[in-house]
Amino acid sequence: MKVDIVIPTYNEEEGLGEFYTQLKAELAKLKDYSFSIVFVDDGSSDKTLQIIKRIKQKDARVHYVSFSRNFGHQAALRAGLAESKGDAAISMDADLQHPPELISQLIKYWREGFDIVYTRRQSGKDTGLMKRFTSNLFYRLLNRLSGLNMDEGAADFRLTDKSVTRVINDLTEPNLFLRGFIVWSGFTTHAIDYQSSARFAGTSKYSLRKMFSLALHGVTQFSIKPLRLANILGFMSALVGVLYGAYAAWSFMIHKAVISGWTSVIISVLVLGGIQLIMLGIIGEYLGRTFMQTKARPDYIIKEQA
Ligand code: UDP
Ligand code: MG
Repeated sequence: MKVDIVIPTYNEEEGLGEFYTQLKAELAKLKDYSFSIVFVDDGSSDKTLQIIKRIKQKDARVHYVSFSRNFGHQAALRAGLAESKGDAAISMDADLQHPPELISQLIKYWREGFDIVYTRRQSGKDTGLMKRFTSNLFYRLLNRLSGLNMDEGAADFRLTDKSVTRVINDLTEPNLFLRGFIVWSGFTTHAIDYQSSARFAGTSKYSLRKMFSLALHGVTQFSIKPLRLANILGFMSALVGVLYGAYAAWSFMIHKAVISGWTSVIISVLVLGGIQLIMLGIIGEYLGRTFMQTKARPDYIIKEQA
């Protein structure tokens, strides 16, 4: 049985050597399998690629794909999976936040017959409050709006059987949100919980901005619910406007009083204007994504590989 390990890396020079050492030790324990290790250099500006090449010189199981620039974690994962030719592929981060010890468990459940074995991070004490909060918000927002039921903490540390990997590689959908697709696809899954640990070295490459963009992405790619939300909001505000108009007419007829002051006017203008802008924004978001999709640009560009 052949298993491919796919590792997206972006400016990981400080920790990559240690990661490889631990990965190698772990793989050595699993004698029944042959492994290949695919590093994806996501346009790193530090020595990441050089370190990968040095590792490759000593280990024939190592391959790499290097992007022309930074295309993002999801694109890097996809490029790595596209290289997978084994019976299963395991994707994991290079910063040792995904413990290599879990690989044996991933494989165990795969051999028991699950198509996808994924992991769930239980946030440990050393997970920053901010990270915990944003990650929590991320999943709640995502699940509510996308209609998918994704586990919190289910990051991209998972094993996929070759049948699943093949489906992923055959998809032409650009900017694929893998985590969502996994849930949506309907393959049999099994979850393993683990305690997250702090990054071995370096800092998180997922800025709040990148996380927000991933969340927006997950939502707009998997549902048109936000469009419906815009409809409901628009309907409600129109209803409020009609009721208010009726009240104003009634008050004019009974009290012969014209509504004085412009406070109410300015408030309704602001509220309606706001809602219209939100709606336009949501429509624009989908339109923009449709536009991007019609261009059918690749998710990434490979500069070199070996
Ligand atoms: N990564 C990547 N491209 C990016 C950002 C991150 O390939 O644009 C890689 C990174 O090197 C790491 C993994 O994706 O191996 C997860 O990133 P990180 O640890 O920074 O995210 P976090 O664990 O903080 O969510
Ligand atoms: Mg990390």
